[in-house]
Amino acid sequence: MAIKAVRGVHDILPADAPRWQRVEAVAREVFEAYGYKEIRPPIFERTELFARGIGEVTDIVQKEMYTFEDRTGESLTLRPEATASVLRAYVEHGLHVQPKPVRLYTIGPMFRYERPQAGRYRQFHQLNLEALGEVHPALDAEVIAVLMELFGRLGLADRLTLSLNSIGDGACRPAYRENLVAYLRQNAGELCGECRARTERNPLRVLDCKQPGCQPTLEKAPSILDWLCQGCAQHFSRVRDYLDAMDLAYRVTPRLVRGFDYYVRTTFELLTGELGAQNAVAGGGRYDGLVQLLEGPPDPGIGFAVGMERVVLLLPAAPAEAVPLALLIPLGEAALVRLLSVARGVRSRGLAVELGYGARKLRNELDRANRLKVPYVVIVGDGELQKGEALIRDMGSGAQRPVPLDRLEEALMAMKSGEPR
Ligand code: AMP
Repeated sequence: MAIKAVRGVHDILPADAPRWQRVEAVAREVFEAYGYKEIRPPIFERTELFARGIGEVTDIVQKEMYTFEDRTGESLTLRPEATASVLRAYVEHGLHVQPKPVRLYTIGPMFRYERPQAGRYRQFHQLNLEALGEVHPALDAEVIAVLMELFGRLGLADRLTLSLNSIGDGACRPAYRENLVAYLRQNAGELCGECRARTERNPLRVLDCKQPGCQPTLEKAPSILDWLCQGCAQHFSRVRDYLDAMDLAYRVTPRLVRGFDYYVRTTFELLTGELGAQNAVAGGGRYDGLVQLLEGPPDPGIGFAVGMERVVLLLPAAPAEAVPLALLIPLGEAALVRLLSVARGVRSRGLAVELGYGARKLRNELDRANRLKVPYVVIVGDGELQKGEALIRDMGSGAQRPVPLDRLEEALMAMKSGEPR
């Protein structure tokens, strides 16, 4: 049996590529308008980077990493997310000496051993954006504005909701956490097994549970927003003021916690009602302290990741693929030799054409032209060669006209730009 792709990965086929290219092109345009520069870290790193950066107790590190030993026995991991790698590079290359905030973005594949389903893959792609070295809440609002601008330009903003929360910091979260754990233990009987296990391991994540049976209990759980210290409360209220000033709509969602240990204060997610259970299109937050955890300077940071598969699923199917302007049909070897250089000439000037190989019958080549849907064919047989001509046939009307061979390249170029022929 033919070898198939591994479970949970997918091919991006030529018919889908235009939508992917569009997402990437729009992202680059928007990110660069806001001053972000591209960085491309490798897709594997020392396992330790993710264990430390993402947090030992997170689902990602505990169950979802593609970890392997290389030939020297060193433990390596295919990156499950980009932030840890970007920050490693930031520290390693001393990018922190640049004027702050240092604004970086990266686009590429991530790997997580999750249970595959619609919109959830084991190799998926993200757009990642990080702003480093600035604590001001206006930066939080700006990063969210970049995200909304991206989806606005893709024509998707109206179909998405922005959820916003603050999950406090090292000063206020521990007390909240204790209070939450006490509540969850008291109500353990009302919660699913996973929630009970998470109560002990990673209690904030319990709030993320999607089980209908758990909802009544979780809705009544203590809210982090009632526990924020003055610094966090002020930060959050200023982020909201700045978002309001930019007319960016959001919904405050006290139960929004994220799958990484490193977040503090602002967290956010962009949600859709159109993709079933996989309703998050993007997520992000502030991660002050993470650069330092990776042995860099005490630079704060904030960023987001957009799931490209999910964005592509929301986009309308791309218009029909671009077709070449013409199929050049040489009938015989001598004509092929002549048309090879014409094809090369127009292609190097950016015009797409197809070329036959001179070995097939005209009827077969015309058949191919119809299947390619090219608007024109150019026919050169022995007769035409002797007269120094090529025949250009309009496939729509069937009309044919001769063109001197030495002016064929120019004629094709003129047809491209729609000039009268
Ligand atoms: P995260 O890095 O977990 O915050 O995820 C950011 C975004 O990446 C999510 O909102 C999803 O859109 C996307 N994403 C995360 N995991 C997957 C996956 N396994 N397959 C497809 N997209 C994913």
